Amino acid sequence: MRLLAKEFRAVERTEAWRFLRDNDPWQELDVLRQLHDADMRRRKWRRKRAEQKVYMELSDAMDILRHICTEGCTEVGPVGQAPTKSPCPAYATCRGLQLLIRHFSLCKSRASCPRCQRMWQLLRLHAALCRVPDGHCNTPLCTAVQAQGAAEGGGVGFGGGEGR
Ligand SMILES: [Zn+2]
Ligand SMILES: [Zn+2]
Ligand SMILES: [Zn+2]
Repeated sequence: MRLLAKEFRAVERTEAWRFLRDNDPWQELDVLRQLHDADMRRRKWRRKRAEQKVYMELSDAMDILRHICTEGCTEVGPVGQAPTKSPCPAYATCRGLQLLIRHFSLCKSRASCPRCQRMWQLLRLHAALCRVPDGHCNTPLCTAVQAQGAAEGGGVGFGGGEGR
């Protein structure tokens, strides 16, 4: 409502408004309603933009997860393989996800850790979207997550970067 109020004050100062107010109360109501509608439209648009942004981020994360699990990158290699020497073109984003994966594979309190929860979300989302036949997907836990809709998992098979 704050936005509307601000705009309202600005409109209120104009000559046209004063004219309307003094001449036609119904028109005044109509203008108020239009102001309100415009505000609602803008809010709706903003919410939609925010949803799109989240969607884009998630689909980027899915692409990068696939890339890390099939090709591997500098911090994390595919299951049973060493990480690669050179970073990929999406390294800025990729590195963040790799660090998250690494944390996930080492974390002792996955069930309560917020970072691990995020990783679970990504893995679960991947499992839900994955079209690779059972047992052929390189993404750790993909089949397991698909099977149980899991909440907690045991061995996480990421190659390299175990650093223990
Ligand atoms: Zn990468
Ligand atoms: Zn954790
Ligand atoms: Zn998969």
